[in-house]
Amino acid sequence: MSKQTHAFQAEVAQLLHLVTHSLYSNQEIFLRELISNASDACDKLRFEALNNTALYEDAPELQVRLSFDKAAKTLTITDNGIGMTAQEAIDHLGTIAKSGTKDFMSKLSGDQKSDAQLIGQFGVGFYSGFIVAEKITVETRRAGAAAAEGVRWISGGTGDFEVETITRAERGTSVILHLREEALDYANTWKLKEIVGKYSDHISLPILMEKEEWQDGELIEPNNEEGGRQPGAMVKTGEWETINKASALWSRSKKDISDEQYADFYKQISRDFEAPLTWTHNRVEGSTEYTQLLYIPSKAPQDLWNRDKKAGIKLYVKRVFIMDEAEALMPSYLRFVKGVVDSADLPLNVSRELLQESRDVKAIREGCTKRVLSMLEDLAKHDQAPEAAADGVTDVLSEEDKAKLGQYSKFYAEFGAVLKEGLGEDFGNQARLSKLLRFASSTHDTVSVSFADYKARMKEGQDAIYYITADTLAAAKNSPQLEVFKKKGIEVLLMTDRVDEWALNFVHEFDGTPLQSVAKGAFDLGKLQDEEEKKAAEDAAETFKPVLAKLKEALKDKAEDVRVTSRLVDSPACLVVTDDGMSMQLARMLKQAGQSAPEVKPVLEVNPEHALVKKLDGSVHFHDLAHILFDQALLAEGGLPADPAAYVKRVNALLS
Ligand code: ADP
Repeated sequence: MSKQTHAFQAEVAQLLHLVTHSLYSNQEIFLRELISNASDACDKLRFEALNNTALYEDAPELQVRLSFDKAAKTLTITDNGIGMTAQEAIDHLGTIAKSGTKDFMSKLSGDQKSDAQLIGQFGVGFYSGFIVAEKITVETRRAGAAAAEGVRWISGGTGDFEVETITRAERGTSVILHLREEALDYANTWKLKEIVGKYSDHISLPILMEKEEWQDGELIEPNNEEGGRQPGAMVKTGEWETINKASALWSRSKKDISDEQYADFYKQISRDFEAPLTWTHNRVEGSTEYTQLLYIPSKAPQDLWNRDKKAGIKLYVKRVFIMDEAEALMPSYLRFVKGVVDSADLPLNVSRELLQESRDVKAIREGCTKRVLSMLEDLAKHDQAPEAAADGVTDVLSEEDKAKLGQYSKFYAEFGAVLKEGLGEDFGNQARLSKLLRFASSTHDTVSVSFADYKARMKEGQDAIYYITADTLAAAKNSPQLEVFKKKGIEVLLMTDRVDEWALNFVHEFDGTPLQSVAKGAFDLGKLQDEEEKKAAEDAAETFKPVLAKLKEALKDKAEDVRVTSRLVDSPACLVVTDDGMSMQLARMLKQAGQSAPEVKPVLEVNPEHALVKKLDGSVHFHDLAHILFDQALLAEGGLPADPAAYVKRVNALLS
């Protein structure tokens, strides 16, 4: 193929413009990005070679070499990994492939300074090279292809790039950076060693540099007045040495890894540019042997709610990278966890299908799940005192409490709703998961109340954990169903996550105390109601019998039943569903999601003490009042009247 010119994809051109026009402090990340690509390329080769050892050609030792040429002003990163065909070079180095970069682009504000800082934190893969290079030449050959099928790719980092065929004996890729004048410092052994130590120490691949040696300058002729020698210089020896630790981070001992290294590694594998919230690193021995290094991110990704989203676990077998997104290693409700599992037992050629069936994998998955839950329990344990902290009495807290203060709340705000999916997915861990749940309540505005907290505050004689589900916190808090609970000072948990209704189908009690929706079933506060109140309710039911019968007739298309209640204090009426019925909120949600939901006919409950209800008997507007009562009750709980116009008409008729 003779020389061809191709235009960059529009987004790449935009990104390159930003990269080359932003001066920023963190230039050196370009090396981390290019070494990371080189390392990925070697991982890919190793993986393909599992079924085709010929791909190793005569160079089975995978490695990355750094070299520079001061005179030519170049810095070259060479790997003997998978390499690229011409088409791959055109596709991969001309478009934006990685979703992380797209994500990053969407975060750009247009303000050069802050955007530049973002690139520094994030890195933009291959294109980072243009931070220090005015031109990049890539020479590459795909493993297994003939030497004549080498490719040269050249670009000045503006609108386009050139590609041509070359002969290249070695497999793999050389990225040759033609350094900008102001970036010539990078053509320096010490500088490169320092950057590699900072960012790429844990790359499991050896990174090599040619050794240098000090050579004295030549002796100056004795007849020269100054005498002595010419200045000396470092010269290359032709011998290569490994400049990184070259051991996978997770295979090192915990005590040899700093928090910063853990965080850097997280950023590298997750493409997240924020540090993780916490992590756990263990070697598990026993019938299955593996190492796990699992992280909880600080922030939920945008696609968290996509249940098809793959788990963030990379699988290695004896340090050999096998696959990304190994979903079999983590249950779906923990899909936000990122990390690495390195198994000592699985075969190297394990496939996704095989993973699903493997007993070792099942054991690893259970082990990882338990670890993540312990990690969360630990955060929760040390986050018991947010109120003390708010009051400024943090000196009663231990150092560990202080370090972890607020972390569980932070985690829960991001991932709590996903965790709840586990209640229906992982029955074995349901009890542990229940303890990790947090809710707002009628007495606590922040999402901080656990079932155990609630139980500890239960009233004498109270025998259920009361809760209400609603679309929003405001709707839950002001719901008519809560009135009598407020009056009696009984706490009610407010559940406003979409997943709550579904999750609660799987949890009926906590530690022996049943969960009871305040919007379901007949009203019964048991021992919390005294005899007098019960008697008054019975009497009211008796006196209201004829009115109830008329209401039932008027609302027969809308309400399953009509009855008096003592759950209301200020409101005239509310809607409830039968004990085993689907809640109105869930039915609405299903409908919104376009799924079929059974028609829920609620029970209308009226407050015999309310003026409007008292007025019903003998009113000439009985029919209209009945419908208004029903529709208002529906509105109060976040629903909409079936015929809103008719509702408005009725209200207006009465108002005028
Ligand atoms: P990412 O590495 O996140 O996919 P990059 O922009 O860094 O994004 O690289 C784009 C693609 O170019 C890579 O996915 C890979 O296919 C290819 N590539 C980059 N560097 C190399 C390399 N050294 N060897 C082989 N392929 C490479």
